Amino acid sequence: MSSDALSDNNTVSPHEKYRLKQVINASGRMTILGVSTPEPAVAAAVEYGLGHFFEMKDLVLKTGAYIAGLLNVEDAVIVSCASAGIAQSVAAVIVKESDHLLVNLHSAAHQEPDEIVLPKGHNVNYGAPVGTMVALGGGKVVEAGYANECSAAQLAAAITPRTAALLYIKSHHSVQKSMLTVAEAAEVAHRHQLPLIVDAAAEEDLTCYYQMGADLVIYSGAKALEGPSSGLVIGRATYVAWVRRQSEGIGRAMKVGKEGILGLTEAIERYVHRVPVSGQQLVEKMTPFIERLNTLPGVTARVVWDSAGRDIARTEIAFDEAALGLRTGEIVQRLKTGKIAIYFRGYRANEGKIEVDVRSVTPEQLTTLYTCLATLLEKRP
Ligand SMILES: *Cc1c(COP(=O)(O)O)cnc(C)c1O
Repeated sequence: MSSDALSDNNTVSPHEKYRLKQVINASGRMTILGVSTPEPAVAAAVEYGLGHFFEMKDLVLKTGAYIAGLLNVEDAVIVSCASAGIAQSVAAVIVKESDHLLVNLHSAAHQEPDEIVLPKGHNVNYGAPVGTMVALGGGKVVEAGYANECSAAQLAAAITPRTAALLYIKSHHSVQKSMLTVAEAAEVAHRHQLPLIVDAAAEEDLTCYYQMGADLVIYSGAKALEGPSSGLVIGRATYVAWVRRQSEGIGRAMKVGKEGILGLTEAIERYVHRVPVSGQQLVEKMTPFIERLNTLPGVTARVVWDSAGRDIARTEIAFDEAALGLRTGEIVQRLKTGKIAIYFRGYRANEGKIEVDVRSVTPEQLTTLYTCLATLLEKRP
């Protein structure tokens, strides 16, 4: 909605004004492309936020309580992004109720437990390293287990009197092999009277990790929830209150605005009541596209299903590199750097295959995508 309003009221769009490339995002929810494009109702909530004053403490508390009611959890607070949620959750479990430490977290030597124990295979880089956010929150990363395994016993073995919390990164970025579950991590945490923080930034289930016993669960506002740039922290009341008070400490450097708070609250409400697009609907959307692709020499397209078992269908395009005289990596690169920037899922380019995630692609864009690919293959050197 906001982009339409911009192009209606002005003769030039921001794309034209700043000479930005049009982007077709066939890769899924990617931070480097601006993540998602929220619905008009979410944009309207953002606009309402921008147009009014609020007693901000009241806005934070009441939207948090509203979201907690929607999700049936004790409490919730909106933050500026999931990374800020990690940093402030770590700060929360170290600072707790101390007024002094709240404003001196990094500047004063202190005796509070500050070690954050996480499975070694969860110490990942999701675009920025998990460890950087832990350090920002005043914590020290302690790795448990090995690169390829972490059991409940291995996690427990890394706990010392200096431990402030356990951290679990629920993500496709993490090592999945021989890894304890969130429920097992919660059991270890509670046996040692420690909280469990779960980073579920890109996950789709807003309640299961809380129900498995996590004390704080963090989500990214713009990924699955399709809200504005923002983050959500849900959890047990005491811990969420400690996260909230970080707004007078390190949280001030990662402040979320009224527009983000109202936009994400609206997005969460819509997400909870949505009828999800089924894999079968995605198949119907991509079938004409697949049929056209299969008319191109050296190209084979078909439907593939999400490897993590979610109800998501994607288009797999396989290239006959020998017949085309072109490497798949080269095709991916040329489509990114063309007049219109087209981004695919390129994880399997070394096998001669790419995947098209059609969820954020309009039927018109699918036609453009086909045309760009056909032109590229025709003019190949
Ligand atoms: C995307 C992501 C984040 C960061 O989310 P932001 O809202 O962009 O800060 C953190 N952890 C994981 C696992 C992610 O996928």
